[in-house]
Amino acid sequence: MGPLQIKDILQTAPENQSVVVKGWVRTKRESKNAIFIALNDGSTINNIQAVAEPGQFSAELLLTVTTGSCLKVTGQLIASQGAGQTVEVKISDIEVYGTADPEEYPLQPKKHSLEFLREIAHLRPRTNTFGAILRIRHALAFAVHQYFNDKGFFYLHTPVITASDAEGAGEMFRVTTLDLNNLPRTEEGAINFKEDFFGREANLTVSGQLEGELGAMALSKIYTFGPTFRAENSNTTRHLAEFWMIEPEMAFFELKDNMDLAEDFVKKVITYALIHCKDDLNFLQNRLTEEEKNKPQNERSLPLLEKLAFVVDNPFERLTYTEAIDILLKSKPHKEGKFQFPVGWGIDLSSEHERYLVEKHFKKPVILTNYPREIKSFYMKLDEDGKTVRAMDVLFPGIGEIIGGSQREESYEKLLGRVKEIGIDPENLWWYLETRKFGTAPHSGFGLGFERLVQFVTGMGNIRDVIPFPRYPKSAEF
Ligand code: ATP
Ligand code: MN
Repeated sequence: MGPLQIKDILQTAPENQSVVVKGWVRTKRESKNAIFIALNDGSTINNIQAVAEPGQFSAELLLTVTTGSCLKVTGQLIASQGAGQTVEVKISDIEVYGTADPEEYPLQPKKHSLEFLREIAHLRPRTNTFGAILRIRHALAFAVHQYFNDKGFFYLHTPVITASDAEGAGEMFRVTTLDLNNLPRTEEGAINFKEDFFGREANLTVSGQLEGELGAMALSKIYTFGPTFRAENSNTTRHLAEFWMIEPEMAFFELKDNMDLAEDFVKKVITYALIHCKDDLNFLQNRLTEEEKNKPQNERSLPLLEKLAFVVDNPFERLTYTEAIDILLKSKPHKEGKFQFPVGWGIDLSSEHERYLVEKHFKKPVILTNYPREIKSFYMKLDEDGKTVRAMDVLFPGIGEIIGGSQREESYEKLLGRVKEIGIDPENLWWYLETRKFGTAPHSGFGLGFERLVQFVTGMGNIRDVIPFPRYPKSAEF
């Protein structure tokens, strides 16, 4: 089925056997004695070197073999004479599938800025950096499914289009088929959504959790892994308008079980990447080291692989929100007025506070629990004191919040009370509330932003660079 992948050819013992290699030219180099073509097919970060003799091919043909062109090369697999690779292909035939005019092709063999590459997102997968990121992203996605499958979870597909406007997790994108130039009106003059496709207002989902809970109340352990949309107009390095979220939801799990699962889960998927993505991680590590070369020693971060191993090998620090506030109040930056935002019990921690706790104080991932009810969602279980809820946020170095989760309120009365308190019409959530009426159970779950995980594992600074075609304010080109 199809040609051999370069990844596999590079592992094959050279016995002068004939091989066919198909891929894109990374570089072509001509010397007195030979012409070297480095080919890559994306199966690995490593190129295969194909070698021809001067005069073996017409100058006309060789002119079309340029960076970015696509070739079929036939030849013999031989032990490599040169350093840097064990095998190479002694070319007998070249077929050019597609040329790439060097005058026009934007990816030349030199360093391009990540900003520039974002403008050519249709071609950036062909760079070493994005090839590595995309392979690691794949490995992590695979590890996620494998992890949950092994643990007896079922993959539940929750809807992308939702009509519940009560999730409250973020600003929503509207889904409509109404003619925006000729909107149907009610007698009062409001837009008449009864005439819209679903007969009501509809949006793209901001979270699959509420439906996930319905699944957990039947299958016990489920997870979702799907596209999620937030119309927050935030131009940060950690927010996308379209991202992928993983949301496990478990019946009979309390907050402690939830934390144990979250910690084990991220450690296992990172371990999977460490085992299966060595070449790509090494490449990204070197890239980062190179980037930080000009920084003073004490400002450089740990090499990527060490950072990942550290997270896998050490227990996450667990403490309550209240304890975290105490630490922040006693901290040097607070006392010296260096924090931009004020600290005090009841505040929503801002990223500078989270980063202080993780990067300066504990120097490892942190799980914060039992947040004030006012700053968390209505569905979180109230603590006995009535002031805090059983929330847990997992905070990572460089990223901040990577996971947000909680034990859910399973009492019908308490949940209904919270729904009314924050001004949601219980009618809109009748199906969600019924889970608490019929066979309610203690349960918990969390949401992990997949791109934040990929960011952490790849060490990429901007979330726009860890998804093939990022969506953010004023950008949906590709
Ligand atoms: P933040 O405070 O960082 O904006 P949040 O508290 O709004 O996140 P949750 O509603 O708890 O996020 O969503 C669960 C997880 O989804 C977060 O921990 C994060 O990993 C991820 N996430 C949330 N919003 C985004 C976004 N706009 N782009 C990418 N990932 C996101
Ligand atoms: Mn959150």
